[in-house]
Amino acid sequence: MAYRYWCGECGHQTSWLRESEAEQKHIDHYVTEHPGIPTGGRVENREKETEPGSGCFLVLVVLVLLLVLPAACQR
Ligand SMILES: [Zn+2]
Repeated sequence: MAYRYWCGECGHQTSWLRESEAEQKHIDHYVTEHPGIPTGGRVENREKETEPGSGCFLVLVVLVLLLVLPAACQR
């Protein structure tokens, strides 16, 4: 699993990291950007298998189908 922490005070988010690394970056952000405010916000997680590349490939397949299907029907 990969974890991303979102700041509750501003729009800051960590990058996708292991839980301990992301949590540390989140705490570091609060210490430097929001001193005196208790650490809040929310955490998001995802399976490592769903890399961004696979989503782009699916979109490409759908686009090709949309282009090919009308041409095939006109014959
Ligand atoms: Zn912040």
